[in-house]
Amino acid sequence: MSLPTPAAILGVPYDASSSFRRGPARAPATIRAALLSPAGNSWTETLVDISDASVLTDAGDIEIDPADPRGSITNGVERVIVANVHPILLGGDHSITYPIVRAVRKASPPLTIVHVDAHTDLYDEFEGDRFSHACPFARIMEEGLAARLVQIGIRTLTRHQREQADRFGAEIIDMRAWSRGARPDVSSDETVYLSIDLDGLDPAFAPGVSHPEPGGLTVREVLTIIQSLEAPMTAADIVECNPDVDPTGITSQVAAKFLKEIAAAMQTIPARWLNPPSDRSVQA
Ligand code: MN
Ligand code: MN
Repeated sequence: MSLPTPAAILGVPYDASSSFRRGPARAPATIRAALLSPAGNSWTETLVDISDASVLTDAGDIEIDPADPRGSITNGVERVIVANVHPILLGGDHSITYPIVRAVRKASPPLTIVHVDAHTDLYDEFEGDRFSHACPFARIMEEGLAARLVQIGIRTLTRHQREQADRFGAEIIDMRAWSRGARPDVSSDETVYLSIDLDGLDPAFAPGVSHPEPGGLTVREVLTIIQSLEAPMTAADIVECNPDVDPTGITSQVAAKFLKEIAAAMQTIPARWLNPPSDRSVQA
């Protein structure tokens, strides 16, 4: 059996599947800058030092082939999994989650996706694009890449997306239910993939997103979601930070804060690759 393995930052500078405005392709750089800023230190709230390379390393950015962006992303994630680390992906727009999860699922037990977002991103297609950032969870559920999809912070449902959620069995904790006290119910024998769209937060906390939607979560509430997960987290993404509309940089700082606490959660409850590609090649 493999030993607990560190997390690795992996940037995905891709925003060509955004439906409204571009910008998130620049976010991996601004989130790294916020992470390394002398304004803060390298310790998490749970007293894990993320400057320790046995906790967190930086695997750089995925080079996106414009002719095959999704293939580039899946291959880039697989290369990190082969090195037996757990990727924390910095988007990029939310379309990247589908090709990421394709790579993760190959080497992981069945996934419970915990998805923080104002939007369900369950459109069958959006403006003619089945791979839009409004569609990744429809593609994921169609391919059977997740055993559970738990969506938190939702406040933009349409009739179509409600039907899609029912069709896929998505478990939606919308903001009204959250306000009444509903919380995700994930047991310790599940394996989590965490996907955080920063527009799940209220724009008061994270204004630098392409689709701000009032009435959302606080930073503290999302930190509590991360810190209270009792299941191992095998990989995660933080998407939709848009530096072009984030003049103070606070949204990148929020993303960096989540990145730190995710790395700590991965350290506290180690996930293991069920079947890392490197093991498969040894057996072959
Ligand atoms: Mn989204
Ligand atoms: Mn969103």
